[in-house]
Amino acid sequence: MSSLGRTATKDPFTELRSDHGSLISLYVSRPSPGGFTALLTDLLRPIREAAATRSRTVEMSVRADADRIRRLADTFESESAPAYAVFASDADGVFIVEALTHEVADVARLGHRPYLRPLRTRPRDLRAGFIVADRLTARTFVVSGGVVTEIGETLQAEPVKRDYGGFEGNAETAARQRADENAAKLWKEAGQRLLESHQDRPLDYLALGAQSELLEGIARSLHPYLAQLPRVTFPAVPASVTETALRAEASSFDVEVRRNRQAALAGRVCDTAWSGGMAVLGLGPALAAANAQAIDSLVIAGSVVRPGVSCQSCGYLARTGDRCPVCGSDLAPTDDVVADLIEAVVAAGGTVQQIEVASPLDNDGVGALTRFPVTV
Ligand SMILES: [Zn+2]
Repeated sequence: MSSLGRTATKDPFTELRSDHGSLISLYVSRPSPGGFTALLTDLLRPIREAAATRSRTVEMSVRADADRIRRLADTFESESAPAYAVFASDADGVFIVEALTHEVADVARLGHRPYLRPLRTRPRDLRAGFIVADRLTARTFVVSGGVVTEIGETLQAEPVKRDYGGFEGNAETAARQRADENAAKLWKEAGQRLLESHQDRPLDYLALGAQSELLEGIARSLHPYLAQLPRVTFPAVPASVTETALRAEASSFDVEVRRNRQAALAGRVCDTAWSGGMAVLGLGPALAAANAQAIDSLVIAGSVVRPGVSCQSCGYLARTGDRCPVCGSDLAPTDDVVADLIEAVVAAGGTVQQIEVASPLDNDGVGALTRFPVTV
């Protein structure tokens, strides 16, 4: 329950600051070939226009950075990353280019602090345990972020000896029974491998690939820890299953598992709030809860963006206001106070999820589970 056991994920960007407010944060995903120059120019135009209404320092800084960022187009074209982030403030001696491993929405912002929402709300890679089996062989894999790792060698069932003697019919029955037992043992052993992997680092779900008549038996042989994970199944045979097929199955299962999980989380936040438990609904209450460092788990419905104000000295956040009620400093306007909220929650050791499924949370846009009751 407490945040003590949690280590906040440190990245090189969190601490970036620009006293002048000249820090550009720019995210760009790979456009069609040859498109980077136009895309960067489009993204930087409103930033330059905004800078023109600010101090001379900001205007000059942004102009220098915009030129330098546009010159990155050729490098971006020739490299292969699906997306890039750039943080730049000439006035503060900052210029950082980061290749990203996932696509992001194209966006550029200007401010005192880095705009990190696209990084914070990126869906985490799921970790899936795969068992692909028939009655004689079983293979186990872990698939995460498009990477397929086979765990151990192919497992073989113990062969059945057919010399039980006695009546012909009895021998047949006994052999079949023994074969069933050996198959169950094989599947259990495969499950044991994934159990070890799960205990090493938790799996998000389990995928069973087999002929449909075997699925029930395989599921029955699972250790209770694995049996309680979300489970998906698909037709496959161990001898011919390919990495490509497993990657494709995982990517569609990931979507399904993620959607179910998001729906459950949104439901939990709403139900908790409605029943008077430790949760808040709506941006205003969530900002108040963040100001009290009360948020354990912040949930944002989609890419909702709302303007607001923030205090540069103490971090107080609100929808509106001129003066900070906590420390008396001037409040600065921010284009996306949801992004500031996200940073406040991460800094206080909470978690953030941006969900893409339709849910009751859509009415409020933002909700949070809190560590203690918050009156708002
Ligand atoms: Zn303040």
